[in-house]
Amino acid sequence: MTCWPTCATRWIDHPVTPAAGRIAIAADIGGSKFAAGVVDRSGAVLGSHRVPTPQSADPDTLFDALTAAIDGALADAGTAAGDAALTPAIGVGTAAPMDLGLGTVSPVNIPGWRGFPLRERLSSRYDRDVGMIGDAVAVAVAEHWLGAAKGSDNVLGMVVSTGVGGGLVLGGCVFAGATGNAGHIGHVSVDPNGPACVCGGVGCLEAIASGPSIAAWARERGLEAPGAREVAALAERGNPIATAAYERAAEALGLAVAGAVTLLDLDMVVIGGGVAGAGSVLFEPLATSYARYATLSFASAPRIRPAALGAGAGLVGAAAVALLPEVYWPGGRKGDSW
Ligand SMILES: [Zn+2]
Repeated sequence: MTCWPTCATRWIDHPVTPAAGRIAIAADIGGSKFAAGVVDRSGAVLGSHRVPTPQSADPDTLFDALTAAIDGALADAGTAAGDAALTPAIGVGTAAPMDLGLGTVSPVNIPGWRGFPLRERLSSRYDRDVGMIGDAVAVAVAEHWLGAAKGSDNVLGMVVSTGVGGGLVLGGCVFAGATGNAGHIGHVSVDPNGPACVCGGVGCLEAIASGPSIAAWARERGLEAPGAREVAALAERGNPIATAAYERAAEALGLAVAGAVTLLDLDMVVIGGGVAGAGSVLFEPLATSYARYATLSFASAPRIRPAALGAGAGLVGAAAVALLPEVYWPGGRKGDSW
């Protein structure tokens, strides 16, 4: 599979040859942890290290934690930043939002970074280029490269867990949008009369289908369940409130996914994250909901699959940015020595 037929125009200004180097440094920046890894061209993680995200308002404290994770991953892989086998770039998947043009990040759940110049700081620290994508986009990339969406060229990859994130592969290439934030399906409204969302919106998919949202809805109806996992276990045993909680989430997911498929003519939708771990409790009502809302001939066939890769998918997808830049590096590298 190649992205050239549809991506060529994007790359005219930035001629690309496959990245030099056999292994890549990858980082996955999230609100609860900074994970880093060294990943080879088969997608195998040769070494990794993670540190809890500091609860600090100091941007440099946060950055030091990130470099500690990267340095730990290099050590775990038995290599060092100067290794000639490393790709000329670092791949980064980051919690959103970001500004791809400026190279800055302002993750909602990392308040110490607002407009933080992550690309410039990492680049000067490791003397490498830095390719950034959203963390959920990284999961979509990994599923497209090696997982459940392998072989499909038009894919929505979703992570449904504490939040609801997404990423798009269109025409075989990652699609970043104007600022790097394409794929934010969790903040598409699916109910104009729905609950308020942390983003300030109303009735967002995330406010209905995220794990905490599912659990909160069930608790409001008297169910004793601390989290979505417990709700799923109760649903499997036939508890009607728990079942209804997942049916409500599935209804919202099906509506949003059907909209995305109809808008973009996608072949495949992959859903991972903790809530997807509920299995048939989620996916059966989701199939019903999708069928209700995806009615045009090109969209109506079932195409939603559980993710195939586990919790390390974000790191693998971030590494793909450095290992396969012609496919997965939105905007491309702006230099001339690639
Ligand atoms: Zn929202």
